[in-house]
Amino acid sequence: LETTPMVIENLTKRYPGGLTAVKDLSFRVEPGQVLGLLGPNGAGKTTTLRMLMGLIAPTEGRIKVFGHTVSPGAPVLSRIGSFVEGAGFLPHLSGAANLELYWAASGRPDDKAHVAEALEIAGLGDAVHRRVRTYSQGMRQRLAIAQAMLGLPELLVLDEPTNGLDPPQIHQMREVLQRYAATGRTVLVSSHLLAEVEQTCTHVVVMHRGALVASGEVSEIVAAGGEATFRVDRP
Ligand code: ATP
Repeated sequence: LETTPMVIENLTKRYPGGLTAVKDLSFRVEPGQVLGLLGPNGAGKTTTLRMLMGLIAPTEGRIKVFGHTVSPGAPVLSRIGSFVEGAGFLPHLSGAANLELYWAASGRPDDKAHVAEALEIAGLGDAVHRRVRTYSQGMRQRLAIAQAMLGLPELLVLDEPTNGLDPPQIHQMREVLQRYAATGRTVLVSSHLLAEVEQTCTHVVVMHRGALVASGEVSEIVAAGGEATFRVDRP
């Protein structure tokens, strides 16, 4: 497994029209960490993750994952699994069949073991054989995470995976991320809730208006007062 950290250096993203969504952001993530990117709406979390997923290019600065620069189309993207809310599944097919199709369509060798492995971590149990039409929101979301986990990428990037879930579903999602991290792989997850990050992550980066305002181990950030962290929210 990978031992090189993920390094973000002076990352900046300006959108056409002039808005700077991410400003001079720098931090690193060591292998095996579950890093929470925390911040209120508009902080720039999604923009940061979209750069990490290779969906958009930075305006300045860079992201290095396993020693390789991430940019749209970069080969290292095959080692980064990502989840974006609202992944479309075919409702009349089972969860397992949907992932098998996806795996085959992504041009990788036909091997159902990958699908079984990801579904196991996602904790969907026997429901993997049921039609997706019958799934709850939480189950669909975990199926989308299983899709991101196919082939067990060394870095998993998840944008607000608990969005729209109720507390029991959030609890299950947390267990999924922890099972994944327990394999020694790295997880980067965004959230706007300190409590959620506190329960799920080992490390946290707090963003506000595109900039980093605090970072460290979750226990340090919590001890420093999530309150201090969020003072920036108020005008
Ligand atoms: P949320 O939780 O609401 O998604 P976020 O922390 O993920 O918030 P971003 O979605 O990255 O924040 O947005 C940061 C800023 O960039 C916001 O002011 C947003 O309006 C702006 N923004 C996002 N996408 C674009 C775009 N494609 N073009 C122009 N501005 C954008």
